[in-house]
Amino acid sequence: MTKGQQTIQTYDSGNTKHKWDIKTLQQKHSILAEYSYKHSRIEKGYANRTLYINLSTNEIKEKKVTEQMKKLFTGGRGFGLKLIWDSVKPTTRWDSEENELLITTGPLCGVTQYPGSGKSLCLSISPSTDIVCDSNVGGFFGPYLKFTGFDALEIQGKATEDVLIIIDEEKHTVRIETAPLEETNSHLLAEQLTHMYASEDTDLSRQKISVVSAGKGAEHSYWGCMNFSFYDIRRKAARLKQAGRGGLGTVLRDKKIKAIVTKVTSFDGVSNHPADPETLARVGTKLHEEIRDLDRSQCNMRAVGTVHLVEIMDDYDLLPTENYRFGSFPKASKIYSTEFFKLFTKIIPDGCWHGCTMACAKTVDGYTVLTGPYKGQKVTVDGPEYETCGCGANMSLWDPLWILEFNFYCDTYGMDTISAGTAIAFYMEMYEYGILNKERCNGLELCFGNAEAVMELLHRIARGETDEFTQIASKGIRRVKDWIIEKGWGDPQLVNDCGMESKGLEYSEYVTKESLAMQGGYGLTLKGPQHDEAWLIFMDMVNNQIPTFADKAEALHYFPMWRTWFGLNGLCKLPWNDVEPADNAETDEPAKVPGHVQNYVEYQNAVTGWNVTKEELILQSERCYNFQRALNVWMGRGTRTDDWIPYRSMGPVTVMEYQSRQERYDLQLLENLKMKKEKIDQLSTEEKVQILYDHRQNQYQKLADAVYYRRGWTPNGVPTPQKMKQLGFTDKKLLSMLQKKIDADEKAGLNVWGGVYSKQEKPPTKTLRYWEKW
Ligand code: SF4
Repeated sequence: MTKGQQTIQTYDSGNTKHKWDIKTLQQKHSILAEYSYKHSRIEKGYANRTLYINLSTNEIKEKKVTEQMKKLFTGGRGFGLKLIWDSVKPTTRWDSEENELLITTGPLCGVTQYPGSGKSLCLSISPSTDIVCDSNVGGFFGPYLKFTGFDALEIQGKATEDVLIIIDEEKHTVRIETAPLEETNSHLLAEQLTHMYASEDTDLSRQKISVVSAGKGAEHSYWGCMNFSFYDIRRKAARLKQAGRGGLGTVLRDKKIKAIVTKVTSFDGVSNHPADPETLARVGTKLHEEIRDLDRSQCNMRAVGTVHLVEIMDDYDLLPTENYRFGSFPKASKIYSTEFFKLFTKIIPDGCWHGCTMACAKTVDGYTVLTGPYKGQKVTVDGPEYETCGCGANMSLWDPLWILEFNFYCDTYGMDTISAGTAIAFYMEMYEYGILNKERCNGLELCFGNAEAVMELLHRIARGETDEFTQIASKGIRRVKDWIIEKGWGDPQLVNDCGMESKGLEYSEYVTKESLAMQGGYGLTLKGPQHDEAWLIFMDMVNNQIPTFADKAEALHYFPMWRTWFGLNGLCKLPWNDVEPADNAETDEPAKVPGHVQNYVEYQNAVTGWNVTKEELILQSERCYNFQRALNVWMGRGTRTDDWIPYRSMGPVTVMEYQSRQERYDLQLLENLKMKKEKIDQLSTEEKVQILYDHRQNQYQKLADAVYYRRGWTPNGVPTPQKMKQLGFTDKKLLSMLQKKIDADEKAGLNVWGGVYSKQEKPPTKTLRYWEKW
């Protein structure tokens, strides 16, 4: 039987077998455009060109990567930001024709000697936030994109019918094809296309294909994620990793892209053609050995992946339960990593790119689906990861099987588990208060713990049902808050305080009430509350290593810059600090993991041939970070008002929350606010909630002052032209845009600091309690 005639059978893992006639599916494709390109060798980590596709005009072309572009933007997310800046307008919105969707690599992406070197960075203007959102993802697509000959893929315009984009290294062509008959949901579509485009009917051929897709949920919500496939030879299945945050899958489907396929012929450990392969091998081997020897006694990622965090978060009162009201729960042990370990298929290595000995990409194979269109079928569930378990806790779902069900459908429908889970948890709290009810939720009883209702809501969204609740609920917390307030159903302050979003993006899964620095780690960010900029809870709350505003500001400068660096280079953050050298605790700054920072200095130099220091790595990130903030300002955001966070992330909103941790909060009134014990005892809980409320809001604004000052921004959070020039930017359009904004803020009285500085530490301009005007 030839490949074209085969009926394919997916999965060897006890999963339901599907049969498709690949030939018939493919016969219905029409080629809309084809572009031939010349092969060119990757040199020192760079392909030195990017690929541009316009789906409105079917134009396909190459763009050159200049030395100046590398110097200013490094690669990955930096390249993505530069290409967006060159192509969109400040008025461009997520569904505008000129909005772009970018998938970028970095100079280290595709290396197989150093663990965690297969990440792509995806960017677009987000439907949730109306600013640029970046999201990182594993899987094979990023490395393959580079091996086909491109450092980044830039897609603009919209097709008029469902299309595929195929980037084929074998033929050196890029094609746009219609794809009318293929599935849309990712667990099936990735299988179909992997089999369709593999050169031969072998696992090795299928392994050379990677597919980016989203599903029906991405079409009908603002939570669309992009699924990046990697063919797993042992499971004989196309597995999925997600670029989850910010609705980028929604943009993919809005452009009518059914999938993007890359196909490579061959690659090896030196396909990146590093400048110094010996150093690269040495540094990589060192980390491999550390993971081999230390992971088991540290995070145990090789056995259970990131779910090892569930019990730690529960222990420290940081696991979000019932919409972040509490940080631990009596039933939490039901979803500890030990429970998922029983369900995970014990096959390693489980890396999402070759050479990742950390191998944290766990799966449950042969899972029997409980609800919806695939009810009764056996499937592979990729995950769950910690965040998805946190969503389970937040919705009060304490059965691992329901968490798997939620995980599977979010993935195949192309919906971000974090945004969906955090949003539904908020809807559940509103339901508990009677602000939402069965009638307002179109018949759904969305109370905490109702797993069937959660799944039914996901299915309704994926079906594109048009009732008012499904339509609004699928757009996320910010829209639902506005809807509830507009209808007059609830106290606006309560609604705003409980809805865990900032900038329009839903929070990821950590309770931050007792860590002011982590409140900043979520709020004083570029894209919104995602923990990939900074995770400071232990440094701040547990170890008390950053007690002053200046300390916290320094951490909120260094760690976001450091973590940004992974996204410039195509790296996974996990091998940096989810395994630590044996002597890390004895170093001067263990939180930075200095031994691994030094690895990264040597690693980047070994690939690129540069001669950078660890300080220059931070400078690379600082350029990108400030440039992205400037883009936010350009799009009418990126100021202090936009860095607002809901009070639920700062402290107890309700009397019940306060009373659940009364001893802790009373002690804070005594010690931090210097109130007298007799006075505290006379106060009602409502009064104590209010006192804490005012205090913590005030602390957050002081923190914002300190952080902006440290970052070299104005008191309204705007990077100054001087700062941008210092970082090497000379673009007149950019510099004058920032100056105009600063002038306008000056006129509006917004360029003044707010009282964080003591008499010894004088603020740069006159002191005004800025936030009181806010
Ligand atoms: S550490 Fe985990 S997520 Fe990161 S590259 Fe390795 S397998 Fe993928």
